[in-house]
Amino acid sequence: MTDQYVVFGNPIAHSKSPLIHALFAEQTGESLDYQTSLAPLDGFTAFARHFFETGRGANVTVPFKEEAYRMADQLTERGRRAGAVNTLARQPDGTLLGDNTDGAGLVRDLKVNHGITLKDKRILLLGAGGAVRGALEPLLAQEPQALVVANRTVEKAEKLAQEFAELGPILAAGYDWLEEPVDIIINATSASLSGELPPIAPSLIQPGETFCYDMMYAKEPTAFCRWAMEHKAGKAVDGLGMLVEQAGEAFYLWRGVRPDSKPVLAELRRLMAQSA
Ligand code: NDP
Repeated sequence: MTDQYVVFGNPIAHSKSPLIHALFAEQTGESLDYQTSLAPLDGFTAFARHFFETGRGANVTVPFKEEAYRMADQLTERGRRAGAVNTLARQPDGTLLGDNTDGAGLVRDLKVNHGITLKDKRILLLGAGGAVRGALEPLLAQEPQALVVANRTVEKAEKLAQEFAELGPILAAGYDWLEEPVDIIINATSASLSGELPPIAPSLIQPGETFCYDMMYAKEPTAFCRWAMEHKAGKAVDGLGMLVEQAGEAFYLWRGVRPDSKPVLAELRRLMAQSA
């Protein structure tokens, strides 16, 4: 039987993961089947366990990442730190390994696809939700000069800063505390989903220099990317590359083969542009 993989979510019909993994499989010559799986909101663990009676691996998306973390028998270090997993892999002995590839996908997109150096940089992260929690360990491993987590609910940023303090120079802030320009701004709030922006000062952008990254992606530039370009950021990009790279990390964990994400990202952009 062909090796079975799924992405669990609710809702899940919109997911681009089956397409991404089909392109990876074709490119690497790996034989696998990858489908979406609509998991019930009140019975994720039993549903996932049933799949793993024969299934080899799963991605996990909203709202099940914490439940997937709790059901894993072992965790990678970055999965443990994130407190949430987006990737489960059935091991030869039948146990489940949980990993979080979101932050590694972000770092790879920044470094490999956009050529950004993170070492010694001043990085500002907007938001303190699941995406930020997953990004902190991989970002701090790049040894930035400072990593500031700013959030509408400041207490959540403070809690993260305390929790990750042993890994590097991390600080918490409220949006209105920030004025000085930074090298990199990463928007990890869900404000973009409704076309909104966190209330941050344009003075955070050093004209022609600051690199702005929105974890959200869309066919048109997101509200945050538009704001960044209006204020003369060096560059503003969206998070489609992060989506492809986190998938590439999961594929590597499952299959031991690292796919080339560039042609897959280009194909996704082409299809998104077409879907007018
Ligand atoms: P969460 O729901 O866990 O966190 C949402 C965050 O956004 C919180 O910090 C919240 O602040 C903040 N927020 C929401 N609305 C506003 C607003 N109007 N103004 C200011 N802040 C706001 O979401 P996730 O962390 O899971 O996801 C965040 C974003 O990252 C989403 O857009 C998601 O699509 C994207 N993402 C992209 C990925 C990719 O592969 N490209 C992977 C994972 C996520 P507060 O705490 O004060 O409520």
